[in-house]
Amino acid sequence: MDDWQRILQESLRTPEEISERFGLDLEEVRKISRAFKIQITPYYASLIRKKGDPIYKQVVPDVAELAENSGEDDPLEEDLDSPVPSIVHRYPDRVLFLVSHSCASYCRFCTRKRKVGDANKIHPRYIEDGLDYIKDHPEVRDVILSGGDPLILSDEKIESIVSQVRAIPHVEIIRIGTRVPCYLPQRITEELVNRLKKYHPLYINVHFNHPDEITPEAARALNMLADAGIPLGNQTVLLKGINDDVETMRKLMQKLLTVRVRPYYIYQADYVKGTEHFRTTVEKGLEIYQGLRGWTSGLAVPQYVIDAPGGGGKIPLIPEYVQSITDEKVVMRNYAGEIFVYPQVKRAKRRKPRPQPPCYAGESQRI
Ligand SMILES: *Cc1c(COP(=O)(O)O)cnc(C)c1O
Ligand code: SF4
Repeated sequence: MDDWQRILQESLRTPEEISERFGLDLEEVRKISRAFKIQITPYYASLIRKKGDPIYKQVVPDVAELAENSGEDDPLEEDLDSPVPSIVHRYPDRVLFLVSHSCASYCRFCTRKRKVGDANKIHPRYIEDGLDYIKDHPEVRDVILSGGDPLILSDEKIESIVSQVRAIPHVEIIRIGTRVPCYLPQRITEELVNRLKKYHPLYINVHFNHPDEITPEAARALNMLADAGIPLGNQTVLLKGINDDVETMRKLMQKLLTVRVRPYYIYQADYVKGTEHFRTTVEKGLEIYQGLRGWTSGLAVPQYVIDAPGGGGKIPLIPEYVQSITDEKVVMRNYAGEIFVYPQVKRAKRRKPRPQPPCYAGESQRI
Protein backbone atom coordinates (compact mmCIF):
# COMPACT_ATOMS: atom_id res chain seq x y z
CA MET A 1 0.00 0.00 0.00
CA ASP A 2 1.28 3.46 -0.90
CA ASP A 3 1.90 6.04 1.77
CA TRP A 4 -1.04 8.14 0.58
CA GLN A 5 -3.43 5.19 0.66
CA ARG A 6 -2.47 4.51 4.24
CA ILE A 7 -3.01 8.17 5.18
CA LEU A 8 -6.37 8.14 3.45
CA GLN A 9 -7.35 4.96 5.23
CA GLU A 10 -6.55 6.55 8.57
CA SER A 11 -8.94 9.43 7.91
CA LEU A 12 -11.41 10.48 10.59
CA ARG A 13 -14.80 9.36 9.38
CA THR A 14 -17.04 7.65 11.92
CA PRO A 15 -19.30 9.83 14.09
CA GLU A 16 -17.56 8.33 17.13
CA GLU A 17 -14.09 9.40 15.93
CA ILE A 18 -15.31 12.85 14.95
CA SER A 19 -17.24 13.60 18.13
CA GLU A 20 -14.37 12.41 20.27
CA ARG A 21 -11.62 14.27 18.42
CA PHE A 22 -13.51 17.59 18.26
CA GLY A 23 -15.61 17.33 21.41
CA LEU A 24 -18.96 17.31 19.60
CA ASP A 25 -22.30 15.78 20.52
CA LEU A 26 -22.32 12.24 19.11
CA GLU A 27 -26.03 12.21 18.22
CA GLU A 28 -25.68 15.46 16.30
CA VAL A 29 -22.68 14.22 14.37
CA ARG A 30 -24.61 11.04 13.52
CA LYS A 31 -27.48 13.11 12.19
CA ILE A 32 -25.18 15.27 10.05
CA SER A 33 -23.28 12.26 8.72
CA ARG A 34 -26.55 10.80 7.42
CA ALA A 35 -27.12 13.96 5.35
CA PHE A 36 -23.58 14.37 4.00
CA LYS A 37 -20.52 12.20 4.36
CA ILE A 38 -17.82 13.24 6.85
CA GLN A 39 -14.15 12.51 6.20
CA ILE A 40 -10.97 14.35 7.20
CA THR A 41 -7.46 13.16 6.35
CA PRO A 42 -5.13 13.06 9.38
CA TYR A 43 -2.82 15.39 7.42
CA TYR A 44 -5.53 18.08 6.99
CA ALA A 45 -6.75 17.60 10.58
CA SER A 46 -3.18 18.29 11.74
CA LEU A 47 -3.39 21.78 10.21
CA ILE A 48 -6.19 22.75 12.61
CA ARG A 49 -4.77 25.08 15.26
CA LYS A 50 -7.92 25.70 17.22
CA LYS A 51 -11.62 24.96 17.21
CA GLY A 52 -13.47 27.07 14.65
CA ASP A 53 -10.42 28.22 12.70
CA PRO A 54 -10.52 28.42 8.85
CA ILE A 55 -9.20 24.87 8.44
CA TYR A 56 -11.59 23.43 11.04
CA LYS A 57 -14.66 25.10 9.54
CA GLN A 58 -14.09 23.64 6.09
CA VAL A 59 -14.24 19.99 7.15
CA VAL A 60 -15.64 19.60 10.67
CA PRO A 61 -19.43 19.18 10.65
CA ASP A 62 -21.67 21.85 12.17
CA VAL A 63 -25.33 21.55 13.21
CA ALA A 64 -26.03 24.53 10.94
CA GLU A 65 -25.83 22.04 8.06
CA LEU A 66 -29.13 20.57 9.19
CA ALA A 67 -31.00 23.86 8.74
CA GLU A 68 -33.68 23.28 6.12
CA ASN A 69 -34.64 26.92 5.76
CA SER A 70 -33.05 27.71 2.43
CA GLY A 71 -30.89 26.45 -0.38
CA GLU A 72 -31.43 23.89 -3.13
CA ASP A 73 -30.22 20.33 -3.61
CA ASP A 74 -29.02 21.05 -7.14
CA PRO A 75 -28.87 24.85 -7.43
CA LEU A 76 -26.98 24.78 -10.72
CA GLU A 77 -29.53 22.37 -12.21
CA GLU A 78 -26.68 20.21 -13.43
CA ASP A 79 -29.03 17.28 -13.73
CA LEU A 80 -30.90 19.06 -16.54
CA ASP A 81 -27.66 19.37 -18.55
CA SER A 82 -26.71 15.71 -17.99
CA PRO A 83 -27.28 13.67 -21.15
CA VAL A 84 -25.67 10.70 -19.34
CA PRO A 85 -25.10 10.55 -15.57
CA SER A 86 -21.34 11.25 -15.76
CA ILE A 87 -21.53 14.21 -18.15
CA VAL A 88 -22.59 17.83 -17.61
CA HIS A 89 -22.75 19.54 -21.00
CA ARG A 90 -23.70 23.16 -20.44
CA TYR A 91 -21.35 25.16 -22.65
CA PRO A 92 -20.94 24.80 -26.43
CA ASP A 93 -17.43 23.32 -26.60
CA ARG A 94 -16.63 21.67 -23.27
CA VAL A 95 -18.00 19.17 -20.77
CA LEU A 96 -17.58 18.16 -17.15
CA PHE A 97 -16.86 14.45 -16.94
CA LEU A 98 -17.64 13.15 -13.43
CA VAL A 99 -15.34 10.17 -12.97
CA SER A 100 -15.11 9.73 -9.21
CA HIS A 101 -17.59 9.77 -6.37
CA SER A 102 -15.10 10.20 -3.53
CA CYS A 103 -12.94 12.97 -2.15
CA ALA A 104 -9.95 12.88 0.18
CA SER A 105 -11.92 14.94 2.71
CA TYR A 106 -15.43 16.35 2.41
CA CYS A 107 -15.89 20.13 2.26
CA ARG A 108 -18.89 21.07 4.37
CA PHE A 109 -19.87 23.70 1.75
CA CYS A 110 -19.73 21.37 -1.27
CA THR A 111 -22.08 22.22 -4.14
CA ARG A 112 -22.44 18.56 -5.04
CA LYS A 113 -23.26 17.56 -1.47
CA ARG A 114 -26.03 15.28 -2.62
CA LYS A 115 -23.75 13.48 -5.08
CA VAL A 116 -20.30 13.05 -3.62
CA GLY A 117 -19.59 10.21 -1.24
CA ASP A 118 -22.43 8.16 -2.69
CA ALA A 119 -21.16 5.37 -4.92
CA ASN A 120 -24.55 5.02 -6.59
CA LYS A 121 -24.67 8.60 -7.83
CA ILE A 122 -21.39 8.57 -9.80
CA HIS A 123 -20.86 4.93 -10.62
CA PRO A 124 -17.77 3.59 -12.44
CA ARG A 125 -19.96 2.02 -15.11
CA TYR A 126 -21.07 5.51 -16.17
CA ILE A 127 -17.50 6.24 -17.30
CA GLU A 128 -18.03 4.11 -20.42
CA ASP A 129 -21.18 6.07 -21.25
CA GLY A 130 -19.32 9.35 -20.73
CA LEU A 131 -16.53 8.34 -23.11
CA ASP A 132 -19.10 7.32 -25.72
CA TYR A 133 -20.90 10.64 -25.33
CA ILE A 134 -17.68 12.61 -25.89
CA LYS A 135 -16.79 10.46 -28.93
CA ASP A 136 -20.23 11.16 -30.40
CA HIS A 137 -19.93 14.95 -29.92
CA PRO A 138 -17.23 16.43 -32.15
CA GLU A 139 -17.91 19.92 -30.77
CA VAL A 140 -16.36 18.88 -27.40
CA ARG A 141 -12.75 20.14 -27.53
CA ASP A 142 -12.20 20.51 -23.76
CA VAL A 143 -12.93 17.77 -21.21
CA ILE A 144 -12.82 18.56 -17.50
CA LEU A 145 -12.40 15.50 -15.30
CA SER A 146 -14.23 16.16 -12.06
CA GLY A 147 -16.33 14.38 -9.45
CA GLY A 148 -15.79 13.95 -6.54
CA ASP A 149 -12.05 14.03 -6.93
CA PRO A 150 -10.48 12.23 -9.92
CA LEU A 151 -7.06 11.97 -8.23
CA ILE A 152 -8.46 9.76 -5.48
CA LEU A 153 -8.68 6.96 -8.05
CA SER A 154 -5.79 4.53 -8.52
CA ASP A 155 -2.91 5.41 -10.86
CA GLU A 156 -4.12 2.75 -13.31
CA LYS A 157 -7.70 4.00 -13.33
CA ILE A 158 -6.65 7.63 -13.80
CA GLU A 159 -4.33 6.76 -16.65
CA SER A 160 -6.96 4.58 -18.26
CA ILE A 161 -9.50 7.43 -18.27
CA VAL A 162 -7.07 10.15 -19.33
CA SER A 163 -5.60 8.04 -22.13
CA GLN A 164 -9.03 7.14 -23.47
CA VAL A 165 -10.09 10.79 -23.51
CA ARG A 166 -6.78 11.75 -25.13
CA ALA A 167 -7.38 9.18 -27.89
CA ILE A 168 -10.53 11.02 -29.02
CA PRO A 169 -9.33 13.09 -32.00
CA HIS A 170 -11.50 16.17 -31.44
CA VAL A 171 -10.54 16.59 -27.77
CA GLU A 172 -7.89 19.32 -27.73
CA ILE A 173 -7.32 19.84 -24.02
CA ILE A 174 -7.93 17.81 -20.87
CA ARG A 175 -8.37 19.40 -17.48
CA ILE A 176 -8.50 17.81 -14.04
CA GLY A 177 -10.24 19.51 -11.11
CA THR A 178 -8.85 18.27 -7.79
CA ARG A 179 -8.54 19.15 -4.14
CA VAL A 180 -5.99 16.41 -3.49
CA PRO A 181 -2.94 18.75 -3.37
CA CYS A 182 -4.71 20.53 -0.49
CA TYR A 183 -6.23 17.59 1.43
CA LEU A 184 -3.77 14.80 0.63
CA PRO A 185 -0.63 16.19 -1.04
CA GLN A 186 1.16 12.85 -0.43
CA ARG A 187 -1.00 11.43 -3.23
CA ILE A 188 1.01 13.42 -5.81
CA THR A 189 3.76 10.87 -6.45
CA GLU A 190 6.50 10.45 -9.10
CA GLU A 191 4.52 7.52 -10.45
CA LEU A 192 1.32 9.55 -10.89
CA VAL A 193 3.08 12.55 -12.39
CA ASN A 194 5.01 10.37 -14.86
CA ARG A 195 1.76 8.83 -16.02
CA LEU A 196 -0.05 12.16 -16.36
CA LYS A 197 2.63 13.95 -18.33
CA LYS A 198 2.21 11.59 -21.26
CA TYR A 199 -1.13 13.18 -22.13
CA HIS A 200 -0.40 16.85 -22.68
CA PRO A 201 -1.91 19.37 -23.14
CA LEU A 202 -3.21 18.64 -19.65
CA TYR A 203 -4.21 21.34 -17.17
CA ILE A 204 -4.94 20.95 -13.47
CA ASN A 205 -7.12 23.22 -11.40
CA VAL A 206 -6.58 22.86 -7.68
CA HIS A 207 -8.72 24.17 -4.81
CA PHE A 208 -7.20 26.15 -1.94
CA ASN A 209 -9.26 28.47 0.24
CA HIS A 210 -6.82 29.72 2.87
CA PRO A 211 -3.10 30.61 2.98
CA ASP A 212 -2.53 28.15 5.88
CA GLU A 213 -3.32 25.31 3.45
CA ILE A 214 -0.16 26.04 1.47
CA THR A 215 2.19 23.94 3.58
CA PRO A 216 5.61 22.53 2.62
CA GLU A 217 3.82 19.27 1.69
CA ALA A 218 1.37 21.07 -0.60
CA ALA A 219 4.21 23.09 -2.13
CA ARG A 220 6.10 19.89 -2.91
CA ALA A 221 3.05 18.39 -4.64
CA LEU A 222 2.35 21.53 -6.67
CA ASN A 223 5.96 21.94 -7.74
CA MET A 224 6.05 18.32 -8.91
CA LEU A 225 2.99 18.89 -11.08
CA ALA A 226 4.42 22.14 -12.46
CA ASP A 227 7.75 20.42 -13.15
CA ALA A 228 5.83 17.90 -15.25
CA GLY A 229 4.74 20.80 -17.45
CA ILE A 230 1.18 20.87 -16.16
CA PRO A 231 -0.15 24.45 -15.96
CA LEU A 232 -1.85 24.92 -12.59
CA GLY A 233 -4.86 27.10 -11.81
CA ASN A 234 -6.70 27.58 -8.53
CA GLN A 235 -10.37 27.84 -7.69
CA THR A 236 -11.33 29.36 -4.35
CA VAL A 237 -14.76 29.48 -2.78
CA LEU A 238 -15.59 32.69 -0.93
CA LEU A 239 -16.60 31.47 2.54
CA LYS A 240 -17.85 33.38 5.55
CA GLY A 241 -15.46 33.28 8.50
CA ILE A 242 -12.82 31.50 6.41
CA ASN A 243 -11.55 33.82 3.71
CA ASP A 244 -14.06 36.67 3.43
CA ASP A 245 -11.58 39.48 3.92
CA VAL A 246 -9.14 41.20 1.58
CA GLU A 247 -6.07 40.50 3.70
CA THR A 248 -6.58 36.70 3.77
CA MET A 249 -7.42 36.53 0.07
CA ARG A 250 -4.44 38.64 -0.95
CA LYS A 251 -2.12 36.44 1.07
CA LEU A 252 -3.67 33.29 -0.42
CA MET A 253 -3.32 34.50 -4.01
CA GLN A 254 0.25 35.70 -3.50
CA LYS A 255 1.24 32.45 -1.81
CA LEU A 256 -0.28 30.42 -4.66
CA LEU A 257 1.93 32.25 -7.16
CA THR A 258 5.04 31.30 -5.15
CA VAL A 259 4.17 27.63 -5.74
CA ARG A 260 3.50 28.25 -9.44
CA VAL A 261 -0.29 28.23 -9.27
CA ARG A 262 -2.19 30.92 -11.16
CA PRO A 263 -5.41 32.02 -9.39
CA TYR A 264 -8.30 31.30 -11.80
CA TYR A 265 -11.66 31.81 -10.09
CA ILE A 266 -13.12 33.04 -6.81
CA TYR A 267 -16.59 31.54 -6.62
CA GLN A 268 -19.45 33.11 -4.80
CA ALA A 269 -20.74 30.28 -2.55
CA ASP A 270 -23.58 28.45 -4.29
CA TYR A 271 -27.11 28.42 -2.98
CA VAL A 272 -26.94 24.85 -1.66
CA LYS A 273 -29.07 23.35 1.06
CA GLY A 274 -27.16 23.06 4.34
CA THR A 275 -24.51 25.67 3.49
CA GLU A 276 -26.28 28.92 4.37
CA HIS A 277 -23.81 29.60 7.21
CA PHE A 278 -20.97 29.85 4.66
CA ARG A 279 -22.62 32.40 2.34
CA THR A 280 -21.46 36.01 2.14
CA THR A 281 -23.01 38.99 0.40
CA VAL A 282 -22.09 39.61 -3.23
CA GLU A 283 -20.81 43.07 -2.19
CA LYS A 284 -18.18 41.28 -0.10
CA GLY A 285 -16.91 39.48 -3.21
CA LEU A 286 -16.73 42.74 -5.15
CA GLU A 287 -14.87 44.37 -2.27
CA ILE A 288 -12.32 41.55 -2.31
CA TYR A 289 -11.83 41.83 -6.06
CA GLN A 290 -11.32 45.55 -5.68
CA GLY A 291 -8.83 44.96 -2.87
CA LEU A 292 -6.74 42.77 -5.19
CA ARG A 293 -6.84 44.48 -8.60
CA GLY A 294 -4.08 47.06 -8.80
CA TRP A 295 -2.96 46.53 -5.20
CA THR A 296 -1.02 43.37 -6.08
CA SER A 297 0.29 41.54 -9.18
CA GLY A 298 -2.30 41.14 -11.90
CA LEU A 299 -1.34 37.45 -11.90
CA ALA A 300 -2.72 37.24 -8.36
CA VAL A 301 -6.18 38.48 -9.40
CA PRO A 302 -8.66 35.74 -10.30
CA GLN A 303 -12.05 36.31 -11.88
CA TYR A 304 -14.87 36.62 -9.37
CA VAL A 305 -17.81 34.57 -10.64
CA ILE A 306 -21.25 33.45 -9.60
CA ASP A 307 -22.42 30.12 -10.95
CA ALA A 308 -25.91 31.31 -11.72
CA PRO A 309 -28.71 29.37 -10.01
CA GLY A 310 -30.89 27.69 -12.58
CA GLY A 311 -28.05 26.63 -14.83
CA GLY A 312 -26.94 29.94 -16.38
CA GLY A 313 -23.26 29.07 -16.04
CA LYS A 314 -20.52 31.19 -14.53
CA ILE A 315 -21.11 34.91 -14.70
CA PRO A 316 -18.18 37.26 -13.97
CA LEU A 317 -18.76 40.17 -11.60
CA ILE A 318 -16.51 43.21 -11.76
CA PRO A 319 -16.76 46.36 -9.65
CA GLU A 320 -17.75 49.49 -11.59
CA TYR A 321 -14.55 51.07 -12.92
CA VAL A 322 -16.31 52.99 -15.70
CA GLN A 323 -18.14 56.09 -14.46
CA SER A 324 -19.54 57.30 -17.79
CA ILE A 325 -19.13 56.79 -21.52
CA THR A 326 -20.09 59.47 -24.06
CA ASP A 327 -19.11 60.04 -27.71
CA GLU A 328 -16.36 62.38 -26.46
CA LYS A 329 -14.86 60.64 -23.45
CA VAL A 330 -14.78 57.77 -21.01
CA VAL A 331 -14.56 58.70 -17.34
CA MET A 332 -12.97 55.96 -15.24
CA ARG A 333 -11.64 55.45 -11.78
CA ASN A 334 -8.43 53.54 -11.11
CA TYR A 335 -7.79 50.96 -8.36
CA ALA A 336 -7.14 53.71 -5.80
CA GLY A 337 -10.33 55.62 -6.65
CA GLU A 338 -8.73 58.45 -8.65
CA ILE A 339 -10.58 59.71 -11.70
CA PHE A 340 -9.11 59.61 -15.22
CA VAL A 341 -10.48 60.62 -18.60
CA TYR A 342 -9.81 58.85 -21.90
CA PRO A 343 -10.77 60.79 -25.06
CA GLN A 344 -12.90 58.70 -27.42
CA VAL A 345 -11.92 58.11 -31.01
CA LYS A 346 -13.66 60.69 -33.23
CA ARG A 347 -16.48 59.01 -35.07
CA ALA A 348 -17.59 60.29 -38.50
CA LYS A 349 -20.77 62.35 -38.11
CA ARG A 350 -23.60 61.06 -40.26
CA ARG A 351 -24.22 64.22 -42.30
CA LYS A 352 -24.45 64.51 -46.09
CA PRO A 353 -21.24 63.23 -47.61
CA ARG A 354 -18.81 65.91 -48.82
CA PRO A 355 -16.59 65.28 -51.80
CA GLN A 356 -13.26 63.96 -50.52
CA PRO A 357 -9.92 65.36 -51.71
CA PRO A 358 -7.73 62.83 -53.47
CA CYS A 359 -5.50 60.93 -51.10
CA TYR A 360 -1.80 60.52 -51.77
CA ALA A 361 0.20 57.74 -50.17
CA GLY A 362 2.47 59.04 -47.44
CA GLU A 363 0.81 62.47 -47.26
CA SER A 364 -0.17 62.24 -43.60
CA GLN A 365 3.43 61.55 -42.56
CA ARG A 366 4.70 64.75 -44.21
CA ILE A 367 3.32 67.19 -41.69
C1 LIG B 1 -17.22 25.46 -14.61
C2 LIG B 1 -17.75 24.63 -15.67
C3 LIG B 1 -17.07 24.43 -16.88
C4 LIG B 1 -15.74 25.09 -17.15
O1 LIG B 1 -15.86 26.47 -17.21
P1 LIG B 1 -14.62 27.38 -17.63
O2 LIG B 1 -15.13 28.77 -17.44
O3 LIG B 1 -14.30 27.03 -19.06
O4 LIG B 1 -13.48 27.05 -16.73
C5 LIG B 1 -17.63 23.65 -17.83
N1 LIG B 1 -18.84 23.07 -17.64
C6 LIG B 1 -19.53 23.23 -16.49
C7 LIG B 1 -20.86 22.58 -16.35
C8 LIG B 1 -19.02 24.01 -15.47
O5 LIG B 1 -19.71 24.17 -14.33
S1 SF4 C 1 -13.31 18.36 -2.90
FE1 SF4 C 1 -14.77 19.31 -4.31
S2 SF4 C 1 -16.29 17.68 -4.76
FE2 SF4 C 1 -15.12 17.04 -2.94
S3 SF4 C 1 -16.33 17.75 -1.19
FE3 SF4 C 1 -14.85 19.38 -1.66
S4 SF4 C 1 -15.93 20.79 -3.06
FE4 SF4 C 1 -17.08 18.84 -3.00
